[in-house]
Amino acid sequence: PAGDNPHVTLITPSSPMATPTHGGRAKCLQRLVRLDLPVPRTVALSFDTVHEIAGGALPDIANVIAQFDEGALLCVRPSSEDPDWGGPGAILNIGMNDARYVDLSERIGREFAAVLYLRFVQAYAVHVARLDPDTFDEIEDMGPGGLSAALAAYEEEAEEPFPQDPVEQLSAVLTCMARAWEGTTARLLRQAKGAPMDAGLGLVVQEMALGIGAGECGSGVLQLVDPDTGLRQITGRYLSQSQGREALEMDFASLFLTRDPRGPSLEDQAPEAFKALIENAELMRQRLREEMQIEFTIENGALHILDGIRVPRSSRAAVRIAVRLAEDGIISHEEALLRIEPRAISELLHRQIAPGAHRDVIGSGVAASPGAATGKIVFSSAEAQASAARGEHCVLIRRETSPEDIRGMHAAVAVVTERGGITSHAAVIGRGLGLPCVVGAANMKFDLRKRKITTADGRSFAHGEEITVDGTSGQVLAGAALTVEAALDDAFQTLMGWADKARDIAIRANVDTPADAATAQNFKAEGIGLCRTEHMFFEADRLTPMREMIFADGSEDRMAALAVLLPMQRADFTALFSIMEGLPVCIRLFDPPLHEFLPSDRAGLRDLAEALDLPISDVTERVEALGEYNPMLGMRGVRLGITVPEIYDMQARAIFEATLDASRAGAPPVVPEIMLPLVSAKREVEILRTRIDAVASAVKAERGRDFTYRLGVMVETPRACLRADDIAQHAQFLSFGTNDLTQMAYGLSRDDAGRFMSDYVQQEVFLEDPFHILDIEGVGELVAIGAERGRQGRPDVLLSICGEHGGDPDSIAFCRAVGMNHVSCSPFRVPIARLAAAQLAI
Ligand code: PEP
Ligand code: MG
Repeated sequence: PAGDNPHVTLITPSSPMATPTHGGRAKCLQRLVRLDLPVPRTVALSFDTVHEIAGGALPDIANVIAQFDEGALLCVRPSSEDPDWGGPGAILNIGMNDARYVDLSERIGREFAAVLYLRFVQAYAVHVARLDPDTFDEIEDMGPGGLSAALAAYEEEAEEPFPQDPVEQLSAVLTCMARAWEGTTARLLRQAKGAPMDAGLGLVVQEMALGIGAGECGSGVLQLVDPDTGLRQITGRYLSQSQGREALEMDFASLFLTRDPRGPSLEDQAPEAFKALIENAELMRQRLREEMQIEFTIENGALHILDGIRVPRSSRAAVRIAVRLAEDGIISHEEALLRIEPRAISELLHRQIAPGAHRDVIGSGVAASPGAATGKIVFSSAEAQASAARGEHCVLIRRETSPEDIRGMHAAVAVVTERGGITSHAAVIGRGLGLPCVVGAANMKFDLRKRKITTADGRSFAHGEEITVDGTSGQVLAGAALTVEAALDDAFQTLMGWADKARDIAIRANVDTPADAATAQNFKAEGIGLCRTEHMFFEADRLTPMREMIFADGSEDRMAALAVLLPMQRADFTALFSIMEGLPVCIRLFDPPLHEFLPSDRAGLRDLAEALDLPISDVTERVEALGEYNPMLGMRGVRLGITVPEIYDMQARAIFEATLDASRAGAPPVVPEIMLPLVSAKREVEILRTRIDAVASAVKAERGRDFTYRLGVMVETPRACLRADDIAQHAQFLSFGTNDLTQMAYGLSRDDAGRFMSDYVQQEVFLEDPFHILDIEGVGELVAIGAERGRQGRPDVLLSICGEHGGDPDSIAFCRAVGMNHVSCSPFRVPIARLAAAQLAI
């Protein structure tokens, strides 16, 4: 060891080292040394030592230098706790001076020796002595005379000759790197990447393997996998006569790594070194239990390994790498699961903007539904449908979407809205359809009349122009950005299979249509946790009978209109039951205020008057009469069920008839779950339970067949949480609707929050959008109370969550902790939830 100082340690196979305090690079190098890889001698300096160096207290530098061979050149490289936090750039060829120049000229030739010396003078001048970089850049191009010019320039600018003493050189290099780390800019940069305030820097001093000299010399990086796909493939770069990371900075490398018809390869040029490189890479993979990128130097045909870093990788590659390491027995299935960030896999489920692709950002908003798509701008659902009919991709731009836009959303490849937040109509539907969606893009001006959008910097994009929507980042881009396909490959499926074995909470999907149900099945949801039945009335052929029902005068007319809707609903439910093949299907009865189904503009009113054969004034009057000051807190949910009971009767009948229609001989019986929305009092449940039981008895009698069903309640008002014990007496299950619960707990409109949410998050009023990440302290407390009281009222009550939070990993952890039986989320978030739940159980 370098003296008795554990903070300044020569790395040897047996050296005890307090690795966490020497940084990640030192730790990795020690592992490589223990594997007996050809790593040049290395001395590691701890965080404390480097901190002291920054303050001017240097350790015994002569003793550090004494650890290396006489005359060796050295390099210093940063070793922070996490390589992503950055650090000062490496400085190479330390120790170069006039005397070594003479020695090296004899050993490797004058020209090579001059290159090494010149480079050191340059690096030292610019980074250590902080002289004008331009002066030294020019010298680089001067050829053989460059060295003496550089030394002269140094002397002139620094007003002293270039330091010749290696102790002085190394002291100055260490000091400047230590201070660079402690500077304010560097600190802010790394804090932005998540580093703590007091993150330490270690430094490693390593003997140089000279990538410049006689014979095959050079440097490069190599890894055994493709960083985009994770497939096994030797990739990397090598540049003859180079040092450090030069090979990575060049557009080309002078030799291909592996045999290549286009030119000479390292494999041909230095076969022994190449073979050793691959063997060492395999060994590192086995023993470090990770795909590593090797940084190497070849000196006169001999291989030196300078470092290994974890291969940087796409999310898709991360999955394949983890699965292959587990399949090869290098890591356990559990560890493979833990290595994948659940949120990152949403990238695999959708087409994405290619990593590194050019982004001409013209606006941004809430990233409401992930994935990327390019299409021509359209401003109405009718245009979207026309565009789809022509086979053209289009992006639907709306101020906000309403049920009438559903068809347009189906026809579009992406949606952008000016208003709305993460639980707005466009966002919820977008996620359900897997349609990229940006909402609340308030930094663009939407001129629907002139059919154009104007960006904050004054550019405008008209109807028909092409844009790209990136629902993953929330950006809207000009033109067509380069995208990559979704990757639901075998590795993904394997990982998901392991996740299902590990987890202990069920995952269902929020599904409205048979198409959604098919997606949910595809992503292996264990049932439907929420079917929002009002979403079944958005299709054109249903909107009219729906409106007739709303306009009905008295119960008799209403029954007639409902009789038209009944077979439609029955067919919907039969399809859902059949697709879900005996898995539980939870159907929520009609929730929204009726007026949401009515037109709001003049043209719509006229169309409706025509369809209903009424004067437009009657229609307008009725629409106005149905309007409410605060519809979200008005006549909706179970309140509709109590006051206009025929609607729920019809839905219950449709569910029961479909139950019988879908129950096939020999198959497990369908047991539907019926859920009442927006409940706040026990009596609401009692009344409706009696009615629904009566419908069940009627259907059983008519059909002469028996079935069972479960009745449950959506707990989405604060009062329902507080009174969950008596509500549970009438409910076999309680499902927490955390969208409405968040809205009501905060008194924060879910449809308007998008307008100011970014300000709130930026100013840290809220750490996150509470519609996105469950507010555990506040809303969570209501949920916990509801869960506990619900179980008091009925010990075997089934508990779940079906708000948007059901797909969020942190919220799932909370749900599991309060003892929920399942979470339910958009189909496209089911895989994320499956993985997140598995990680919680490991
Ligand atoms: C909820 O409120 O959390 C919920 C799932 O219902 P919706 O979003 O339809 O109001
Ligand atoms: Mg709700």
